[in-house]
Amino acid sequence: MLQRVEGIVLRTNPYGESNIILTLLTRELGKIGVVARGAKKTNSRLASSSQLFTYGSFLIQKGSGLGTLSQGEIIHSFRDLREDLVATSYASLLVELTDKAVEEKKNNPFLFELLYQLLNYMNEGTDAEVLAYIYMTKMIPVLGLHPFFDECINCGCSANDCLFVSFSVKEGGFLCQKCQQIDNYSFKISEKVVKLLRLFYHFDVHRLGKIEVSDGTKKQLQSLLFAYYDEYSGIYLKSRKFLEQLNTMHQFISELKKK
Ligand SMILES: [Zn+2]
Repeated sequence: MLQRVEGIVLRTNPYGESNIILTLLTRELGKIGVVARGAKKTNSRLASSSQLFTYGSFLIQKGSGLGTLSQGEIIHSFRDLREDLVATSYASLLVELTDKAVEEKKNNPFLFELLYQLLNYMNEGTDAEVLAYIYMTKMIPVLGLHPFFDECINCGCSANDCLFVSFSVKEGGFLCQKCQQIDNYSFKISEKVVKLLRLFYHFDVHRLGKIEVSDGTKKQLQSLLFAYYDEYSGIYLKSRKFLEQLNTMHQFISELKKK
């Protein structure tokens, strides 16, 4: 049976001499795998739509196992994103996380829309690092986890009534000034980080305005989110290693500039 779907390429794996297995997140069917026969050959009709991040319209022949790709048309290639090494690295994190977090053939139109929007923002030049942290925060409930972002995990006081000063990975939420001592290993965080995390968790990405986040704030978001993922998600992200190397390089260069 032939079916047309809209999808984003999450992963590409070479298969045999000339084929590629594509993992797609589709609007209609959720995550699926399809074989693009001959797509490794440069003159193949399927080559251009079989690249990572591509958002396309795909005609697939469904089978009991992997489907076969009959046709692929690019809707959006995210060209500017591909030409930027930093943005590409964060986009890789987005698609890898999606691939590892989402079960096959479980439809989630919300997630599809979210991934598309964020890749689009990256392509338009919005800070890719911040967009990656938005995605990681929004993916937490998709993983079946429910951190406390609205009240202190120990005493239950709400964001309006008390000041959150740290995030406990162990307890899975914010701690207020009074309760921060219950976890000595909690992350001390600024008011800005509290605000951003709550915003990332609750807001609709369609309404994303201009975002400017300082390097220090990004660093806090990064350590906290990765520590939380390490503790609860069971997901190891290959793209993270490269990002860490990139950050070290970035720091090294800014140190050099200061001298
Ligand atoms: Zn408290």
